[in-house]
Amino acid sequence: MPRPIQIYIDQSALENNLHRVRQVTSARIMAVIKANGYGHGLLRVAEALAAADGFAMLDIQDAVRLREQGYRQTLLLLEGYFDKSDLALIAEYNLSCVIHSQWQIQLLDAYPGRATLDVWLKVNSGMHRLGFAPAQVSAAMESLRRHPAIREITLMSHFSHADEARGVSSQLEVINEIGAEYRIARSMANSAALLRYPATHGDWVRPGIMLYGASPFADTSARQLGLKPVMTLSSRIIATQDLSAGDEVGYAGQFRADRAMRIGVVACGYADGYPRHAPTGTQLNVDGQKTQLLGRVSMDMLCVDLTHLPQAGEGSTVTLWGGDLPIETVAASAKTISYDLMCAVTARVPVRI
Ligand SMILES: *Cc1c(COP(=O)(O)O)cnc(C)c1O
Repeated sequence: MPRPIQIYIDQSALENNLHRVRQVTSARIMAVIKANGYGHGLLRVAEALAAADGFAMLDIQDAVRLREQGYRQTLLLLEGYFDKSDLALIAEYNLSCVIHSQWQIQLLDAYPGRATLDVWLKVNSGMHRLGFAPAQVSAAMESLRRHPAIREITLMSHFSHADEARGVSSQLEVINEIGAEYRIARSMANSAALLRYPATHGDWVRPGIMLYGASPFADTSARQLGLKPVMTLSSRIIATQDLSAGDEVGYAGQFRADRAMRIGVVACGYADGYPRHAPTGTQLNVDGQKTQLLGRVSMDMLCVDLTHLPQAGEGSTVTLWGGDLPIETVAASAKTISYDLMCAVTARVPVRI
């Protein structure tokens, strides 16, 4: 019998969440499946989201795999190419790529092909991460339009505050001003903008986190948004311990019982991707009942309170997140975000679909 930890990926929830995007927008949908489909498995996710109009990722090899599996949609490389040797593959597999810097335009000069590349010109509208400054856009656009290798150009930008009170208005203004000069397709919206700001939808929306069933907002739950969680991380209790008042639990004795208690040891630790910084009190469900993490998370194990769950014991199922326990709840407790937890699940955790 293998170690009892696993992730379960609910493909029908992915379909539900894609459908939810369709209900919210009439723009084309570029499903973002970077980072191994936010930790859910690239091909598994693509299969469930096959009705999307495109897929966005980082690695050329991932895009090539999708093409070879028969996906005919737009496949967008979010950081574009890194070297001129990438260009031949991009053309051969008809991949679309972001162009965010002048050095990438210069690499095009080494590419002999004609009208074979679709590019997404990325504008830095205020996030100051990737993209041409607004004042550089017209020169970049001119170089691309003149270039014999370029077929179609889409205008793209990314929001830094779409999930917060500050919103998108100043960045949207920058994009709209640039967009007014060119009659080309536009793409701006991540999940948060897609859900909250219809004016950002443009021609292509780029949802990521909402497809995986988590809310991009701190103040609105996934359920309120009509989203279904896709990933469940679960394991089992492999040992129990009875504590007396004063007994300590785990490394550094970070938890100390102030009364008699019963605890369970769960086969899940930070080497599985559970956040090491989750504090005592972080919610876990044992046999569907709420309880809490006690003490420091170790590499392969963590401890839970069973004092109020007399029926629970060795073999009981433990949900670390997913199902009735929103991943956002665990993320907030560990002072991180759901994205981080999804991507952190490690390769040793088997997947069940
Ligand atoms: C990751 C990413 C997205 C998706 O963002 P979510 O917040 O997960 O919806 C969209 N656009 C770009 C450029 C990204 O890198």
